[in-house]
Amino acid sequence: MKNINRSNHLFEQAQRYLVGGVDSPVRAFKAVGGTPLFIQRGRGSRIFDADGNAFIDYVGSWGPLILGHCHPRIVTAVKKAVEHGSSFGAPTELEITLAQMITEAMPSVELLRFVTSGTEATMSAIRLARAFTGKNKIVKFAGCYHGHSDGLLAKAGSGVATLGIPSSPGVPDSWTAETLIAPYNNGEAVKKLFHDFGSDIAAVIVEPIAGNMGLVLPKSGFLELLRSLTTAAGSLLIFDEVITGFRVGYGGAQGLYAIKPDLTCLGKIIGCGFPVGVYGGRRDIMQMVAPLGPVYQAGTLAGNPVAMTAGIETLTILKQRGFYQEMERKSALLVKGIKQAASKAGVNIQLPRLVSMFTVFFTRETAMDYDTALKADTELYAKFFHGMLSQGIYLPPSQFETAFASAAHTDKDIQATVEAASKTFSAL
Ligand code: PMP
Repeated sequence: MKNINRSNHLFEQAQRYLVGGVDSPVRAFKAVGGTPLFIQRGRGSRIFDADGNAFIDYVGSWGPLILGHCHPRIVTAVKKAVEHGSSFGAPTELEITLAQMITEAMPSVELLRFVTSGTEATMSAIRLARAFTGKNKIVKFAGCYHGHSDGLLAKAGSGVATLGIPSSPGVPDSWTAETLIAPYNNGEAVKKLFHDFGSDIAAVIVEPIAGNMGLVLPKSGFLELLRSLTTAAGSLLIFDEVITGFRVGYGGAQGLYAIKPDLTCLGKIIGCGFPVGVYGGRRDIMQMVAPLGPVYQAGTLAGNPVAMTAGIETLTILKQRGFYQEMERKSALLVKGIKQAASKAGVNIQLPRLVSMFTVFFTRETAMDYDTALKADTELYAKFFHGMLSQGIYLPPSQFETAFASAAHTDKDIQATVEAASKTFSAL
């Protein structure tokens, strides 16, 4: 066990002023027990807590930090940007540069709008889809999380899956009644929804690679079916690539699977840890957004120059030849090592991975949807989590979150992680 006296003290203090001591529920470690570590700083693959303990970090701020902490090029660029001013509430050239980079990476995105979070991106995309189609209902998948806006909190994953809240009080039933739920990877269920409600379905929103019930990969043909059903019904297909955008490849999941959604939501990596989100897509649809069209959406800090700068510098690095191949090589090494360690210790796990996203599921059956994901043994995961933590490995504090490798992880880090996993599995 590490000495975490200072984190214990800070958590006590934090609970006096902050709800549950945290600003986002999953940070409270409720799903795994114990005290959340208060982080003081990060560098490369590591974070350091308030007691001075170092951890190899596989959370990466829940996805944005694909370059690791404090990448020197990001630090330099951001410092310079801050010196020029933190926000103007007026257009800057930086927004053009980042927007152009995004549209080049994702050709389905012809026109876009910067916002300040993933939640705002999906919420705004839904509003726009309803306005564009003149229809009301949306289809979402159980276990997919699209931020915490009212209509999307039905059967959400992430912290909601962890806490087992089916939806949230404060959201009128009449509101979630417009949200139709299907099991992930279940084409038949979606067909039935289109059969029953097709004329009133504005959009299907999906995480093309689900990361908020642990990592659940799309079955072959599933995303293609969503594309054809939405097209046939005059509904829109919205890819929520807040996690997968620039994570599974420079073109995101849509590039990987060669599917063109009508609208795309982004966040996380495109801000490299600064608050940012995007919704964008077909020009004819996006032209409905104010000031071009009647769909209102705005933001004081949208297109923030510091966040834009971090995004531009990040994408410039990601675009370099071989970046994703190297991520693939390292992540494969890591996952192979953890799998071997589990099998040597006789522990049953499933370890889905896609490039640098992975989840250690304590189940016998590969999770294909929310119900199968929920079969995972969360108590065992909690033990695994704490075993790894005590050896300096920081994993997501919940079975139902995806872990991320970053470019900053070295082969030595991976070796250390596999050794820690080996000891932890043996002790389970
Ligand atoms: N969509 C997805 C797929 C996400 O994973 C998240 C957050 N983890 C969001 C939307 C919401 O983003 P934010 O937390 O920035 O509001």
